[in-house]
Amino acid sequence: MIFYSLNKQSPDVDFREATINGQAPDKGLYFPKHIPSMNASIIKDIEMIPNEEIAFEVMSPYVGKSMPESVLKEIVAQTVNFPIPLVSVSENIFALEMFHGNTLAFKDIGARFMSRCLGYFVKDNEKKVTVLVATSGDTGGAVADGFYDVEGVEVIILYPSGKVSSVQEKQLTTVGKNIHAIEVNGTFDDCQRMVKQAFSDPIMKESLFLTSANSINVARWLPQQFFYFFAYKQWTDKKHPVVISVPSGNFGNICAGLLSMKSGLPIKHFIAACNSNDVVSEYLKTQVYKPKSSVATISNAMDVGDPSNFIRIQQLFEMDVSSLKNVFSSVSITDDETKKTIERIYRDFNYLLDPHGAVGYAALEKYLTNHPLQKGIFAETAHPVKFYDVVEPVIHQKISLPKSIENIIHKTKLSIKMDADYNCLRDCLLSMK
Ligand SMILES: *Cc1c(COP(=O)(O)O)cnc(C)c1O
Repeated sequence: MIFYSLNKQSPDVDFREATINGQAPDKGLYFPKHIPSMNASIIKDIEMIPNEEIAFEVMSPYVGKSMPESVLKEIVAQTVNFPIPLVSVSENIFALEMFHGNTLAFKDIGARFMSRCLGYFVKDNEKKVTVLVATSGDTGGAVADGFYDVEGVEVIILYPSGKVSSVQEKQLTTVGKNIHAIEVNGTFDDCQRMVKQAFSDPIMKESLFLTSANSINVARWLPQQFFYFFAYKQWTDKKHPVVISVPSGNFGNICAGLLSMKSGLPIKHFIAACNSNDVVSEYLKTQVYKPKSSVATISNAMDVGDPSNFIRIQQLFEMDVSSLKNVFSSVSITDDETKKTIERIYRDFNYLLDPHGAVGYAALEKYLTNHPLQKGIFAETAHPVKFYDVVEPVIHQKISLPKSIENIIHKTKLSIKMDADYNCLRDCLLSMK
């Protein structure tokens, strides 16, 4: 597969180069030259096909000749090594639980796949690759876990001190080995700015082989299609195509869903479930795309005011709003509605939502009220324990910790404290090489 930059000012690349570059040199996002069609017999027989085989079929056209088939098979098998069950929650509403990976959020799929691809692509390099990434919470843990002990790769994660949940902090500061956490005395925006400065600093280019692991990387974005194929595999009512609601921030996950639909997966409609950060629902109303500063909410992984992957969604529909609107809508849910949804669904159905999944549930419920003959799935993108500080007061109960969390909660945090000053980051990176 050839990938081109959506800014159209950079050379075309293959999967290998797109993964190593992350973003194109003209700062555009990489996009596939054509959308592959899924083999119809795979869709027809999907219930009988093992997950790793489906995953291989999905990724194979994109990866192309960048790696031997046997390597890709091994990588997808290691990526989909946890269950992604479809669970009935209430009448007509099902949860696709994407959170059974090591760090309890859906980002494990993309991070596991990308880390293994990058490890393969750089294994013969003389220079080590340094992955530099800023996180507001979930990305850090998934990247730390995915890249742990990957040979030839050092990982540096910047996170805002005191602004990630305690579970999230432990997940990114207790891993050790090739994973280094930098605790920045500032906000997520400060972390992001420092990372961007490092990427544009010529001294860094000369001395380190620097790359990023954020969600615009094709190797993190594309494997998220697996979720939608696995959802369809478990959907028993195949005569009635399903509506899927996806809690969205940077719109990478839902964009992967739309891509799988364009490749032939029978999905009726996608709902982008957003919190008060509502740029996309405003765009669908006014047809004017107006980025805003993000506002803080209780579903903080979705606090994005200018979603970077939305341009890819527009591209999938050839920039035509009306054809996009046929299969895509967006609903914005307030924090108050989110809390009420968590409380009500726990009370009535004994199902505990995390704040992000609750946004997805509430958006789907609104949609189904206007489309009463349909049934839907919402993506449950994180385990509620990751956000116990929000969830516990809402249900007036303690929630018990899963094993994986219990194991890390008592580990000692290891972080390098740093002021929100790029010079400090530069000195630190140079001393590590
Ligand atoms: C990152 C994240 C999201 C948003 O996903 P995007 O692909 O950025 O739209 C939603 N929920 C959780 C729990 C997340 O960590």
